[in-house]
Amino acid sequence: MTSTAFGPAELLHLLKARTSSAQPSPITHVENLPARAGRTAPWPDWAAADLVSALTAHGIKSPWEHQATAATMAHSGTHVVIATGTGSGKSLAYQLPALTALLNDPRATALYVSPTKALAADQLRAVARLNLSGVRPATYDGDTSREEREWIRQHSRLILTNPDMLHHAMLPGHSRWASFLRRLTYVVIDECHAYRGVFGSHVSHAIRRLRRTAARYGGTPTFVLASATSGDPADAASRLTGLPVTAVTEDASPRGAMTFALWEPPLQPAPADLNHIPSQPTSSPAADGAVPLAELDEVELPQVRRSALRETADLLTDAVTAGTRTLAFIRSRRGAEVVATIARRQLDEAVPGLGDRVAAYRAGYLREDRRQIERALLSGELLALASTNALELGVDLVGLDAVLICGYPGTRASLWQQAGRAGRAGGEALAVLIARDDPLDTYLVHHPSAVFGRPVEATVLDPTNPYVLGPQLCCAASEAPLTQADLELFGGEPARAAVEGLTASGALRRRPSGWYWTHPGRPDVDLRGAGGAPVSVVEASTGRLLGTVDQGSSHMMLHTGAVYLHQGVSFVVDDLDLDDAIALVHQEEPDWSTHARDVTDVSVLGVRSRVDAGPVSLFLGDVEVTSQVVSYQRRRIGSGEVIDTKPLDLPVRDLRTVAVWFTITPDALTTAGVEPPDVPGALHAAEHAAIGLLPLIATCDRWDIGGLSTANHADTGAPTVFVYDGHPGGAGFAERAYATATDWLSATREAIAACTCETGCPSCVQSPKCGNGNNPLHKPAAVQVLDAVLTALTTTGAPALDTQALDTPTT
Ligand SMILES: [Zn+2]
Ligand SMILES: [Zn+2]
Repeated sequence: MTSTAFGPAELLHLLKARTSSAQPSPITHVENLPARAGRTAPWPDWAAADLVSALTAHGIKSPWEHQATAATMAHSGTHVVIATGTGSGKSLAYQLPALTALLNDPRATALYVSPTKALAADQLRAVARLNLSGVRPATYDGDTSREEREWIRQHSRLILTNPDMLHHAMLPGHSRWASFLRRLTYVVIDECHAYRGVFGSHVSHAIRRLRRTAARYGGTPTFVLASATSGDPADAASRLTGLPVTAVTEDASPRGAMTFALWEPPLQPAPADLNHIPSQPTSSPAADGAVPLAELDEVELPQVRRSALRETADLLTDAVTAGTRTLAFIRSRRGAEVVATIARRQLDEAVPGLGDRVAAYRAGYLREDRRQIERALLSGELLALASTNALELGVDLVGLDAVLICGYPGTRASLWQQAGRAGRAGGEALAVLIARDDPLDTYLVHHPSAVFGRPVEATVLDPTNPYVLGPQLCCAASEAPLTQADLELFGGEPARAAVEGLTASGALRRRPSGWYWTHPGRPDVDLRGAGGAPVSVVEASTGRLLGTVDQGSSHMMLHTGAVYLHQGVSFVVDDLDLDDAIALVHQEEPDWSTHARDVTDVSVLGVRSRVDAGPVSLFLGDVEVTSQVVSYQRRRIGSGEVIDTKPLDLPVRDLRTVAVWFTITPDALTTAGVEPPDVPGALHAAEHAAIGLLPLIATCDRWDIGGLSTANHADTGAPTVFVYDGHPGGAGFAERAYATATDWLSATREAIAACTCETGCPSCVQSPKCGNGNNPLHKPAAVQVLDAVLTALTTTGAPALDTQALDTPTT
């Protein structure tokens, strides 16, 4: 191994040197995290001797304390979740009890479930190399051939699979799995923090179906879950499995010291080409304001921050020049390629040939390619990688000096996972978070306590979402008739209500012995379904499928005339056929971008919970969101000049979901200093920033949520800001926002106030997915609104909100 000449502090100083001294330092905070010594434990005396000797032969001399604790709990039959940091060896915690069980009882079986095929493949390698007799581990996924499947069902005692296979193959065909399920002793759910939102809610029911089906054959497995560090992992694991789960969270693995810097690229005047705002909202509901189209103007971007990609490429260049082994995390594949390309070019300019020591790395690469890159990095032949978060799952890279994180990865759990890649045994490491032009990133680099002073966020999922529960109950009924007792397993009262509804609609039939699925074929349920079939984007001249867009976003992104970007290549949509869920496009590089406009309305269906705080009220409830994409603008790339506005004829879409909203009286707004003409802009700006900050407290993405603000809403009769889950039935995000409203809105207020721009920028109140062209927006008045709301909520002592009480919808 080569070794860098620089420690983390020197390296950070060197990176900063690029910034001109006339500008404020890009480093907003430096956190020094001390080293931690590891604590080992003896091998548990119940562990199978063959297993212990195989593990010892592979270099594991003894387990860390947390591994031994979790393993022993699982061995004694306690359902356990181990939630510790990257590289803390969570695998051993389930390998010990599960493999011991398989060695002690030659008929016992175990099931391992991971969110990705790649991770299952890595786990298979780890177990296979132990060469334990009679275990016959095998992966079972979409690539497994029919013959292999047959062999696996009959002979494998450790099957590694994913939730989709469980849902689509194993559970519907359970009779063929009878002997495997009868002897099922352990179920391992790896990377369980990945199961969040609607997907997580579906998976939680697939797991309940697995429990029910196994029980029918006599299997009562113990569950062992592994999670990245997460807030309240026991609660999340219980929601996921429906079982009482005990958490092991104290990480006893050793860690080197780390210097962690927060970095904000400097503001600079907007070059003309940055006025081109990408026309593609990447998903979900966009619209967020009921403003007449006639009022809409062109957006001005007087100042923007230097792009985080560009900044990351420069830092990577400097780090490599200094001989530092560095990994840069970039959110998109294309971004990773761009960073690698810029860094390579800059390095070659400095020292010809040096550029060859930087590579891009992403999930789509073949395993052989990935292994080769890992080896090259280990040997020092490669000094740096620009990667998507492909590394988070199942790839082993050690011995890095520095990690650059381009843009907040969405959760503190991911942030720590990425930062945890830096540091070699006993050595010191540097991590740098480079803020993107986004309110959440801005907030974080100015509020280090939000990064370093808090536990990671709780994983949010909602098994009672009726849009998940209904279809999942149909799946369960198609596997075996549902009994009264089953309804407890699937959630009690909400499940009873759902079954009644399904019976009334004819989906299920009531018989004395239970509820039956009486239709030919199985229910068509997609675990990752966002409602409706995704729209295929097809090149008309060649028939080539370019990609898919979820139905919710298709009206915004794929309307006739829309410019659609695919891997940097520009296409124009000729026709959007909603009946066949297909958009035909042709390749074209027009000198304009397109910006869809929509009209959205929210009506309140019911209030689940409310807080009255004088002039301010806060609500959680069920809403119906109707939206219609009505027109689009073509804007000249470069100048942003509006060429024309074209009407569109697209149907209205309805979304029944859950929202959090607040109202404030007009008098209170006036008292707060917000003049009546500024009210719409103030509410709209507050709404954008609030959406941008919600991921701080819930494990969601800003694309998962939508909003609407209005100076007078028909149902509330007051100035109102709504923020709603962008998924039918809700995904738990609005509920979380309601429960932590003061934290959430305080952070929103701080993010706006901390931004040094004058009238609003993408770092504070502008939104990349605004259905109203970011107009009107009033940045200073947004702060005044939020101040007034927060004062009211805190002085009336908004009660400590009890999320448990919110589980049952009142509809
Ligand atoms: Zn700003
Ligand atoms: Zn907006």
